[in-house]
Amino acid sequence: MADAHPRNMEPTFRESVDIMFNRAVALMDLSPGLEQKIRVCNATYTVRFGVRLRGTIHTFTGYRSVHSEHMEPVKGGIRYAMSVNQDEVEALAALMTYKCALVETPFGGSKGGLCIDPRQWEEHELEQITRRFAYELAKRDLIHPAQNVPAPDMGTSEREMAWIADQYRRMNTTDINANACVTGKPINAGGIAGRTEATGRGVQYALREFFRHPDDMKAAGMTGTLSGKRVIVQGLGNVGYHAAKFLQEEDGCIITGILERDGALYSEHGLDVEAVKQWIANHGGVSGYPQANHHADGSDVLETACDILIPAAMEGVINKENAPRIKAPLIIEAANGPITAGADEILRDMGVVIIPDMYANAGGVTVSYFEWVKNLSHIRFGRMQRRQEESRHELLVTELERLSADRGLGWELSPNFKDRYLKGAGELELVRSGLDDTMRTAYQAMSEVWRERDDVKDLRTAAYLVSIGRVASSYRAKGL
Ligand code: GLU
Repeated sequence: MADAHPRNMEPTFRESVDIMFNRAVALMDLSPGLEQKIRVCNATYTVRFGVRLRGTIHTFTGYRSVHSEHMEPVKGGIRYAMSVNQDEVEALAALMTYKCALVETPFGGSKGGLCIDPRQWEEHELEQITRRFAYELAKRDLIHPAQNVPAPDMGTSEREMAWIADQYRRMNTTDINANACVTGKPINAGGIAGRTEATGRGVQYALREFFRHPDDMKAAGMTGTLSGKRVIVQGLGNVGYHAAKFLQEEDGCIITGILERDGALYSEHGLDVEAVKQWIANHGGVSGYPQANHHADGSDVLETACDILIPAAMEGVINKENAPRIKAPLIIEAANGPITAGADEILRDMGVVIIPDMYANAGGVTVSYFEWVKNLSHIRFGRMQRRQEESRHELLVTELERLSADRGLGWELSPNFKDRYLKGAGELELVRSGLDDTMRTAYQAMSEVWRERDDVKDLRTAAYLVSIGRVASSYRAKGL
């Protein structure tokens, strides 16, 4: 039995996802059989394996859950945390199904996890553990370019993905598509530009799109633009850091609060995200950071007034107990499941607008899709034969400038034009514009349902309606 959610006897994470799912299907016309088929998790594999480390054998428990195979491969990250359990991976796998359907990446949903505190192990030990876990999963096709493609999640990064890819390659030496067995790899090991920043970048693009919808903004009592909005970020990991950094540097948001493991920082005038990140890297936490007030118990910062609250770490941080004290009119769920089903209802009754996880953090899997396609196509993304073309373009620019000078034409090629012309569209630009396009299209699909149907009261239910509808039509078209 999975552990019950510790707070206030709330349902477990998986039950919480089911409650939200049920709320949406109640508004749909699905046959009960199909509804049940979509809701349940197809399979969850549990593995316990031993690794000899520091002179003793340590046993680790890991999971890979497959929620829906209406499209294959199935997709979803691998999480390293002590709190990993079957209930959690199943909830996360279900969210992957809905997320992929919403942003139209052609994958089913899956998720994996290993019960481990990565900070307790040296890098070479983590490599041994990861390779063994990857071996256990790959030998059951739970890592496979055509069947199941993991990616980074909490506690893992491109480093672990490189080990996983290498392990798979060793086990499948003749598989020309081996690189596509996992995404989120380092660029020099088959990765794609912009994958590391992708989830945070997606949060930024999601907010920008929200601010292009005046009716939706009105529901949150918002006016104006992102510029000057006060933002509180819970968790400065990969997702929270990139989201906060881009919103601060590119959209003029003021990051007033940052919550971390060891408390929170608050400054009315705004925190320098880059400096805080650096402080955490050097000191292991936020305490002692000189340019802000430190709150040992971060919860009061979570409940401080702001315009936008970004929970970007764990599930269940906003629950029935603290939801009534939340003051943000707009919450964007950068993490998976940060708001419990109970809290979701409380916040909705309070008039808070929630941009739901399955949309808000879909940037990661979207760029994973680009990486997977790149690996399978075996071609470079962006402009081809870059060097040859660059020299050709350089000649042309020089020639234009010479002509203008010779004939006294006074043509001025703006530095911006020259830059763009010479560089062409590189991989990073392609990835970012593809991600932006995806986030806009998905938002519009979700918002349209919210606006057009009186019985749909929030963006989350709208998101579920769109994605469940797509999964259902895929089952109807292809069979179960
Ligand atoms: N772990 C990320 C998520 O929860 C990324 C998954 C992926 O890229 O497959 O969406």
